[in-house]
Amino acid sequence: MRVGIGYDIHPLVEGRKLILGGLHVPHPKGLKGHSDGDGLLHAITDALLGAAGLGDIGELFPDTDPKYKDADSGTLLKAAFEQVKRRGYEVENIDCNIIAQSPKLKPFKSQMEARIAGLLEIETRRVNVKAKTNEGLDAVGRGDAIVMQAVALLRHS
Ligand code: MG
Repeated sequence: MRVGIGYDIHPLVEGRKLILGGLHVPHPKGLKGHSDGDGLLHAITDALLGAAGLGDIGELFPDTDPKYKDADSGTLLKAAFEQVKRRGYEVENIDCNIIAQSPKLKPFKSQMEARIAGLLEIETRRVNVKAKTNEGLDAVGRGDAIVMQAVALLRHS
């Protein structure tokens, strides 16, 4: 077994769609980023790469590369996961935190779990998404940013 951790933060800005966990979540603001801004999938990508000892998402998909402009983060996650699989690993489980003052994410958690499980070719029960606020504190609490965290446990098959 090997464990990996992932973290991401993206600013919330007007004029962007909010894409989180592979879903479009209705909100007046969206996550700014070179890709589609889906920091939850970025955190999961980093957790998987970390667990497999394969570096990080920035090495694999540099944000200076025009190829990844507005890229679907699900595609990036799948590409990273292919490398993890080639090393002989399967996913035991993924656990995530989304720390956002708004919108309320509870109605979307189970859909995100299903989407993430689909990308990683595992049963939905192996993915857990938790949503928290930041109790009004700092940039996250003001609604100016969203933080996403993930851990991944891999098993060598
Ligand atoms: Mg990111």
